[in-house]
Amino acid sequence: MYYDCIVVGSGNAGSCAALSAKENGCQKVLLVDKCSPDWVGGNGYFTAGAFRIVHNGLEDLLPIVQNVTPEQAKRIDLDPYSREDFVEDIMRLSGRRSDPTLAASLVDNSRDTVDWLAGYQVPFILSFHRQAYEVGGRQKFWGGLVLSVEDGGKGLIAAEHKALKEAGVEIWFDCPVVKLLVQDNTVTGVIVHKDGSELSIESGGVILAAGGFEANSKLRVAHLGMGWEKAKVRGTPFNTGDCFAIAKDVGAKLVGDWASCHSTTWDFNAPEIGARNLTNQFTKSGYPLGIMLNANGERFVDEGEDYRNYTYARFGKAILLQSGGFAFQVWDAKMLGILRKEEYGDGVVEKIFADTIEALAHKLGEIGLIDQAQFAKTIQTYNSAVAQHKMENPHWNWDPAVKDGLSTQSSHLSLSPPKSHWAESIEKPPFMAVKVCCGITFTFGGLAIDPASAAVLSESGPIPGLFCAGEMVGGLFHNNYPGGSGLSAGAVFGRKAGASVSKGKATLRA
Ligand SMILES: Cc1cc2nc3c(=O)[nH]c(=O)nc-3n(C[C@H](O)[C@H](O)[C@H](O)COP(=O)(O)OP(=O)(O)OC[C@H]3O[C@@H](n4cnc5c(N)ncnc54)[C@H](O)[C@@H]3O)c2cc1C
Repeated sequence: MYYDCIVVGSGNAGSCAALSAKENGCQKVLLVDKCSPDWVGGNGYFTAGAFRIVHNGLEDLLPIVQNVTPEQAKRIDLDPYSREDFVEDIMRLSGRRSDPTLAASLVDNSRDTVDWLAGYQVPFILSFHRQAYEVGGRQKFWGGLVLSVEDGGKGLIAAEHKALKEAGVEIWFDCPVVKLLVQDNTVTGVIVHKDGSELSIESGGVILAAGGFEANSKLRVAHLGMGWEKAKVRGTPFNTGDCFAIAKDVGAKLVGDWASCHSTTWDFNAPEIGARNLTNQFTKSGYPLGIMLNANGERFVDEGEDYRNYTYARFGKAILLQSGGFAFQVWDAKMLGILRKEEYGDGVVEKIFADTIEALAHKLGEIGLIDQAQFAKTIQTYNSAVAQHKMENPHWNWDPAVKDGLSTQSSHLSLSPPKSHWAESIEKPPFMAVKVCCGITFTFGGLAIDPASAAVLSESGPIPGLFCAGEMVGGLFHNNYPGGSGLSAGAVFGRKAGASVSKGKATLRA
C-alpha cells in the first residue's frame, strides 16, 4: 500500500499540510486520525478561529473578510500590525527564548498563508465581538489580533475538510499511527492500527500534525508538574502525545519549553474534556474588566497587566496554583453589558448575582469561597486604590480598547499585585461573579524542525521523509503566547510541510 504523502492529524495543521501536498503535486494523499469521524478537526474545531497575521490595516484586510459593509468600514479603527510587532510579541512573551528563525518564518508567511486559505473558501471575518470595543460610536480593534473565521473553529474545520474532499484527499478515522517505517535512515511510511489489525503503509513523506500532550494527564504531571492532572482539557481528548515518542524512536530531536503550556481561565462547571457544542464558549476572558479572587478572598494576578490576548494563555496556570485550583471573577453593574455574550450570556455559564458585596461573598461561600470577610475587604481596598488613582489623574478616561493607564497604583496607595489598566471601581449593584478554573489548551514543547521546509531535525540534521506542523512543533512558544498564533503557525508550517513532501517526490522522480 503506497501514498505519495501521509498526514497524521485532521486538525488545522494536518488539513493545511494535506491541501498543500495535493496542490503541489502529490497525487495520492492520505490523512489519518485516531479519532472517530465525530471528533474530526482536533483542537482546531474548538477554536475561536482567531488568526494572528501581519497586515497593513483595514484597507489591506477588506478583500479577504466577508463581514464588513462599506458603511461599517467607515466606523472602524484598526491599526496595522507589522512584521516587527508580531516578532516582538512572540519574543517578548517567550522571554526572548523563541527560536528567532522559526518565529520569523511564522511571521513572514502569516499574511500570505491566510490569503492561501481564503482561496480554499475559509470564510475569514473581522473579529468584532472578540477583538473590538465600541467606543464613541466607532469599532476600535485592540491587541494586534483582528482576523477570525465565521463560526470559529467549526467554520474553519468545515471549510478545510470540504476543500480536502474536493481535492480528493483520502481520510481514515479510528486509525492511530503507532510507529514510523524507516529504511536507510529515511522515513518511508507509517504503521497504523485499523479495524483491529496492524497495517504498514509506505509513503513518499510523512507529516506529523498530531497535537501536543495536553490530554494526557500522566504526561502533564511528568512534564508540567504536580497539580496539572486537575486541569480541564479545553479541546480534543485525543492529543495524548503519542507521536512524540514515535518520532523520538527515529531520532527526532525534542526542543522548546516542555515545562509549560497554554492554559486559560475556564468555566469551573465545564466538562473534563472539550464539548463540541459550546467549544470555546467555556473560556472566561472578561477579567480585564473586573478582578479575580481566590478561595481565600485575595487577588493573585494583575488583571490589567496587558491586553487579554497577551495574558490569557498563562492565567489558567495562575488559577491552578491557587488553593483548590479555582477562582472567582467579579464585576459590578457597569461592566455587565460589555462582557462578551458568547462567554457570559444567559445559559452559557452559572452567574451569581447579589446587591451587596457581603451578600455576594455569602453566596460564593456555598461554592468554595473560604474567607468571606477577606473577599469583602479585598474589594474595598481595591475600590480605595481605584478612587485614589482617579483623584490623582482626574482627566484620564476608562477605555477598554487601549491600555488606558487607569490603575490601582498611586502615591498614597498601591496594591500587590497591581491592576495596571482598566481599573474601575466595583461598587454599583448588582454585582456578578463567575467561578473559573484552569483549562489546558496545548503544550509548548515539541519536535525541532527546519523553519524553511518543516523537516523534522535529528541531532545531525533533517530526517529524510519526516515533517511536522502545528502543536507538535517545539521552540516557538515558551511560558506565554500571543493569542491567535497557533492557527497561523499550524497553517504556515503545514503548508510548508505539504510543499516539501511534494518537492521531495519531484526530486525522486527526476
Ligand atoms: C478551546 C480552544 C480554543 C482555541 N482558540 C484558538 C484560536 O482562536 N486561535 C488560535 O490560533 N489557536 C487557538 N487554539 C489553539 C489551536 O487549537 C491549536 O494551536 C491548533 O488547532 C493546533 O492544531 P494542530 O493541527 O496542531 O492540532 P489539532 O487540531 O489538535 O489536531 C491534532 C489531531 O491529531 C490526532 N492524533 C493525535 N495522535 C494521533 C495518532 N497517534 N495517530 C493519528 N492521529 C492522532 C488527534 O486526534 C487530533 O485530531 C485553541 C485551542 C482550544 C482547545
